[in-house]
Amino acid sequence: MNGTGDGLVWLDTPAFPKAARTALADPQLRGNLRRATGTIRDKRLAVTGELGDWEQLREAGEALKRRTLRHLDRYLEELERSVTAAGGTVHWAADAEEANRIVTALVQATGEREVVKVKSMATQEIGLNEALALEGITAYETDLAELIVQLGEDRPSHILVPAIHRNRAEIREIFLNRMVPAPDPDLTDEPRALAEAARLHLRERFLRAKVAVSGANFGVAETGTVAVVESEGNGRMCLTLPQTLITVMGIEKVVPTFADLEVFLQLLPRSSTGERMNPYTSMWTGTTPGDGPQDFHLVLLDNGRTATLADTVGRQALACIRCSACLNVCPVYERTGGHAYGSVYPGPIGAVLTPQLAGVQHAASLPFASTLCGACYDACPVKINIPEVLVHLRAEVVDAQRRSRHLPTAEALAMKAAAAVLATPGRLAAAQKAAALGGRVLSRDGRIGRLPGPLHGWSDARDSPAPPAESFRSWWRKNREQS
Ligand code: SF4
Repeated sequence: MNGTGDGLVWLDTPAFPKAARTALADPQLRGNLRRATGTIRDKRLAVTGELGDWEQLREAGEALKRRTLRHLDRYLEELERSVTAAGGTVHWAADAEEANRIVTALVQATGEREVVKVKSMATQEIGLNEALALEGITAYETDLAELIVQLGEDRPSHILVPAIHRNRAEIREIFLNRMVPAPDPDLTDEPRALAEAARLHLRERFLRAKVAVSGANFGVAETGTVAVVESEGNGRMCLTLPQTLITVMGIEKVVPTFADLEVFLQLLPRSSTGERMNPYTSMWTGTTPGDGPQDFHLVLLDNGRTATLADTVGRQALACIRCSACLNVCPVYERTGGHAYGSVYPGPIGAVLTPQLAGVQHAASLPFASTLCGACYDACPVKINIPEVLVHLRAEVVDAQRRSRHLPTAEALAMKAAAAVLATPGRLAAAQKAAALGGRVLSRDGRIGRLPGPLHGWSDARDSPAPPAESFRSWWRKNREQS
């Protein structure tokens, strides 16, 4: 948490189970999400299915990320040397506060009071806009979806499409009520009209901006090249027009060589927007006299990443290339949307990344926000085994809770009782007999509508089948052992 009230974890939102219940009661939200995730999902399946070597590409991406993370220190130092040699300046930020301090000081040194921004998860993670605002500096988001979120004083709910929870009519309302100067009052909710209104709104800001802030999809250790991948061209404007460019990059975004981009630039667009190639891939290497920003700063952000790297199971989350494919296939995300996760990183990757970056105590419910169906693992272009990390983090949460309590929880007592019952065949048979008897009393037409006592939590949302009158073991004894 960065102290500005709007960083990685949103402390003013309820934990996932409560927030998810609220989201589930919103049919408009569920409709918006179903349409949007379904469309992206279908596009992704179509373009990944075209490639005969898609699985080999995924394996190559996974292997590259694993090797990079194994030698992260070496590649980061190489990146620093390459960027410096190309005329840029590298800054190291241990946490969100330090990163915000560095960026704010760099903007202040230019004498400017406003910056234009390329869509960036890292700057959202550190709450940069809020930190700049505290110093009287205005940050203008230029990505269309980020602009919608910013104008609506909303929060992002998807890694790639931050305003996925909004439909066209809602976006039109936001533009009419919040854009300065106001757009044509006859603005329709046609995508072309909305895009034109945003273009007119942003154009003037692009032309007057002297400072831009971006994130980075990749930073190449070998050459010092930084790459941003986007669809709208707004990023290209930010990366070329201003005099000063400040890039905030998570340390895990480094790749060893320029040739490695060949793999990731195939994996990323197909997995994120379902395109064979994204429309704009901007790359820059330090500064070039007379061409683009003349002052380039790269802020390398840790903010919990080194601690994550130390966890041999959890570290695979650092391989994420932020494509959002795991969100679009997740049955939980599709129904609750991103806000329920209470973090800038929602969905399956958010459920494993947020607790690790922020500490499990700040996001203890997130590792449980999953059915463990494995769809995220299948979709991930760099083969992050998200279910494995979820289970690992669940154990951490349970251990932490056990350590902080003097008395065992009802769940822990139930597990102890279950362990005792399962320990001997005699106890198991007695328990099965008792359950069959209880089932006969509670069931109607072979189903139990409501379980007694603390067990009712299980039956609140579903019926349970009545236990069979005879257990398999007893049936076996009667019918097979005699023959
Ligand atoms: S975890 Fe994998 S699928 Fe999810 S956003 Fe990251 S790279 Fe994409």
